[in-house]
Amino acid sequence: MDEFELIERFFAGHDRAPGVVVGIGDDGAVLQPDPGRELVAVVDAVVGGVHFPVDIDPVDLGYRAVAVNLSDIAAMGARPRWMTLSLTLPSADPEWLQAFARGLHEAASAHDVALVGGDTTSGGNTVVSIQVIGDVETGKAILRSGASVGDTIYVTGRIGDGAAGLRLIQAGTPDAELSRAFLRPEPRVDYGQMLVGVANAAIDISDGLYGDLEKLLAASGVGGKIDLDAVPLSAAMLEHFDQRAARDLALSGGDDYELCFTASGDLPVGGDLEVTAIGTVTSGSDLVLFDRSGIVAFEHGGYR
Ligand code: ADP
Ligand code: MG
Repeated sequence: MDEFELIERFFAGHDRAPGVVVGIGDDGAVLQPDPGRELVAVVDAVVGGVHFPVDIDPVDLGYRAVAVNLSDIAAMGARPRWMTLSLTLPSADPEWLQAFARGLHEAASAHDVALVGGDTTSGGNTVVSIQVIGDVETGKAILRSGASVGDTIYVTGRIGDGAAGLRLIQAGTPDAELSRAFLRPEPRVDYGQMLVGVANAAIDISDGLYGDLEKLLAASGVGGKIDLDAVPLSAAMLEHFDQRAARDLALSGGDDYELCFTASGDLPVGGDLEVTAIGTVTSGSDLVLFDRSGIVAFEHGGYR
């Protein structure tokens, strides 16, 4: 199977969408932005054996590679529109590609993202790099730098499940619910857009709540305090890990793809999505953790 055939068979035909003037097949895609809106570009590469187990189901890999990018788009308050795919493969196995493409198109179509181009090469390791382009009303993107002293700090969903799921997969004792959190993260695309004009600052949690919140606070030039008893942990995680281990997974595990944001007013109703207040933005630059027993010391973690 040559490159042309591979693209035709698995990736072409998903490029008809609003704003796509020229899709797959030319040297570049031609895209028409909507008036009054700015573009938001994000990219994330995932490398076999580093970011995902090499024996991951390719359906999940395809889904996840799109979802992690949509999570960045969500954290900006943007609407995802188009994406490109750079694919490096040790070999072109049609069965693998079929499954990978299915997961990829599933995640993309769930959020109306058109695949408008890409690149296909062979190489020693499987590398999937996806770029998503989204848009947001001019001047309205939610930045990391907008948090103000006195804001409440919130998270969506449950924290730590993705990391817990990965640990259990690696240990050979997977838990269905936690595996799903790792393999099929649900990017908070709709809620992110609802936060425009409401959240003062936002980040998506990919490297662990502590480290990612620290980045937001540093960008805003403020500090914060977090009530660890308020951080939402799932019953599934607490079945497999004691409270201390569960907290560590939430604080520094990563792979959550939930939103962490700050706001001072009322929040939009998230429908089924749980949104939890976990702390407050403070003056200074420290991120302090406490629980009902007092200040909690935490060795600065986060996947770097
Ligand atoms: P070029 O050599 O000009 O970079 P290619 O021959 O690599 O073009 O690609 C031909 C067309 O197919 C281009 O429009 C490119 O964007 C698209 N394409 C290549 N690989 C992929 C892929 N994995 N997924 C989607 N589109 C792809
Ligand atoms: Mg070219």
